[in-house]
Amino acid sequence: MREALDQLKQRLFEAYDLAMVRSLLNWDQTTYMPKGGAPARGRQISLIGRRAHEAFTHVEIGRLLDQLEPLAASLPPDSDDAALIKVTRREYDRATRVPSSFVAEMSQHVAATYQAWTVARPANDFASIRPMLEHTVELSRKYADFFPGWKNVADPFIDHDDHGMTVATIRPLFDSLRKGLVPIVQAIAAKPPTDDSCLRHTAPIEAQLAFGLDVIRRFGYDFERGRQDLTHHPFMTKFSLGDVRITTRSRENDLTDSLFSTLHEAGHAMYEQGIRRDFEGTPLANGTSAGVHESQSRMWENLIGRSRPFWEHFYPKIQASFPAALRDVSVDTFYRAINKVEPSLVRTDADEVTYNLHVMIRFDLEIQLLEGKLAVADLPEAWNARYKSDLGVQAPDHRDGVLQDVHWYGGHVGGAFQGYTLGNILSAQLFRAAVMAKPSIQSETREGTFESLRGWLRENVHQHGAKYTADELTRRATGGPLAIEPYLDYLWDKYAPLYGLKAGERGAVPAGA
Ligand code: ZN
Repeated sequence: MREALDQLKQRLFEAYDLAMVRSLLNWDQTTYMPKGGAPARGRQISLIGRRAHEAFTHVEIGRLLDQLEPLAASLPPDSDDAALIKVTRREYDRATRVPSSFVAEMSQHVAATYQAWTVARPANDFASIRPMLEHTVELSRKYADFFPGWKNVADPFIDHDDHGMTVATIRPLFDSLRKGLVPIVQAIAAKPPTDDSCLRHTAPIEAQLAFGLDVIRRFGYDFERGRQDLTHHPFMTKFSLGDVRITTRSRENDLTDSLFSTLHEAGHAMYEQGIRRDFEGTPLANGTSAGVHESQSRMWENLIGRSRPFWEHFYPKIQASFPAALRDVSVDTFYRAINKVEPSLVRTDADEVTYNLHVMIRFDLEIQLLEGKLAVADLPEAWNARYKSDLGVQAPDHRDGVLQDVHWYGGHVGGAFQGYTLGNILSAQLFRAAVMAKPSIQSETREGTFESLRGWLRENVHQHGAKYTADELTRRATGGPLAIEPYLDYLWDKYAPLYGLKAGERGAVPAGA
């Protein structure tokens, strides 16, 4: 068995390294590459991507899995090797079910659509991209056909990013969450709006970046195994467990935009940096799901970075960094400003309370598109109607409406959004468990140190990589399955005092939450 396992790992390592090289080409393309590099880079990325796919779907990997699976049954249930065989089988089957001709067709179409979107969005031109999106929906449905046996056409996509979840399990969860969120949103809407003008001062970009870097160094982001660079749309990427990078953007007239994107991406990166090094080169050397990944970024960004204890320590420091903007602003005014709740048009700018309503709109619409219940031609109207009914706002154009997110224009339609909300829910559940196990987390945050929280996350989440499914990980770390109650409690406990809400305004907390 040892020999077959070693052979498997060797083959997996080759596929892994090729995928990492592809990421490196991507990273360079979005950070430093001069314009003139674009044509060759597109070709190179697709070549390496194809090689990575070929290496991972090689018949020899299938043969080794066939040979190893019966033996894996005799391994202890918590064995790393058993997990490796199980996870590799799942991904191998997924990757080999789709003919490579289809993969090529899809990726070519997606690349062209993405290019068109970068022009269509600023031009507010949905009509020109509509036929391409129609074809994306068609191809996405075709893709789903390669995975028969699912109840809903969106399920294979959801399973890919958030294995273990389906439309049928997410819908009731989101419905309960909505019932808990809407009364809080409405109660806040009835209060006077928050003044956040203190954040709209001009601040030197170098100082903004330096402040963010100082914070994530204290969080525990390891600069020996990572770095930060500038880009248009912040992301995290890795080239090995020893090189996990983040990017950010900055706006000169927005004091905290780059800061919160930095904290967010550092949360993703610390997850990857914390994975056991002996998983390197295997499918276990990844975060286990989109939802768990997002729970890490949102925890550091929101539960820590937008919390009162955090700013007790960091406010004097940010004041010193931006004296012209913040000298005469109290910590209370600043804290209110960074936690302003206001129904808005753009998901990525949304506050913690309304954010998930944006996600639910997209989740529902993409299922309707896949099911054929909604035509792409009617999508803008359906989008606007949902924003009106769910958030009470109306986009003046498509730019900040149906064209705002890259997901449908830079990939398939399906499974792209639920992870954000699953991550928000899980972030509060994990944080509650962490504070219960290590009460010093609260006082440490006030002092600008984070050893206890980072240590708990490393122990209970990070180190395991993809060894456990999201559900297994959640149960092991918190003692129960994913639940919305800690998240709704967290929002209420934070926003009720901020907006002077009374207990009666919370509405009934959904049963079974
Ligand atoms: Zn994220």
